[in-house]
Amino acid sequence: MHAKASRTRRTACDTRGGGGAKVGFDAEEMQKEGNVGMRCLGWLLGSLVALGCATSPTGRTQFLLFSERDLDRMGFEAFEAIKTDESVSRDAETNEYVRCVAEAITAVLPSGERSGWEVVVFEDEDVNAFALPGRKIGVQTGLLAVAHDQDQLASVIGHEVGHVMAQHANERMSQNFAAGTVLSGAQIALGDDSPESRALLGALGLGTQFGVLLPFSRSHESEADLIGIELMARAGFDPAAAPALWRNMARAGGSQPPEWASTHPSHGTRIADLQRAVPAAELLRQEALANGLRPDCE
Ligand SMILES: [Zn+2]
Repeated sequence: MHAKASRTRRTACDTRGGGGAKVGFDAEEMQKEGNVGMRCLGWLLGSLVALGCATSPTGRTQFLLFSERDLDRMGFEAFEAIKTDESVSRDAETNEYVRCVAEAITAVLPSGERSGWEVVVFEDEDVNAFALPGRKIGVQTGLLAVAHDQDQLASVIGHEVGHVMAQHANERMSQNFAAGTVLSGAQIALGDDSPESRALLGALGLGTQFGVLLPFSRSHESEADLIGIELMARAGFDPAAAPALWRNMARAGGSQPPEWASTHPSHGTRIADLQRAVPAAELLRQEALANGLRPDCE
């Protein structure tokens, strides 16, 4: 029942996209060529089946048009912009705590995915966190009032990293693109209030940060939950903290749901699904503990 905590895999039908290293179009090239987006769309629609078939970590078939390099660059640019716009926490203790938990999670990713993650704490009362392609993790200080211990914080970070591992941003952008929302140039420009820029930020999962109401879909949320609980357990955190965190969230309420509390699935469904995943995850945790993985971040 558990997801393998591996990244989305391209499947055989992606061979026409350049052997997996480069699938779909290159955003920089698109920008250079002006209106090439529309031509590219026509080309893509004629090649949909061949271009972007992939399998997510839970075995779900995905349609991905963008290369990992494109997504990594978008994530990098968005993160740089957020660091410029938002207040970055300088509190050494808080930073160390969040970094300790995040690094314990990223340390159990597949070997090629473990290094180079940037973790930033933002002074913000919103109960929120996010992870971006390009190995970026952001945690708002408001989350720490609801995630009461390292295990609960690990459940949120695991969930966010789960979105990245399953390439959900790529999938959302690909769906938008195929539906005709041409993201011309595919550039991140936070000062730019254009629909394209907002669509990009929303697709990256940054809706609540920038007022773009585009929550992840129910299937993406459920998938990130399953990947997240596995990651936290493999890192040695207590997986029972995942449903507990959601009980805290349900109690905390709040008018604006954070990304990971987006309206689908409902708190009740989510808690029940996570609770069902706890026993199998607990076995992974016991394995981690036996191997000496015993996070001590508090
Ligand atoms: Zn989420």
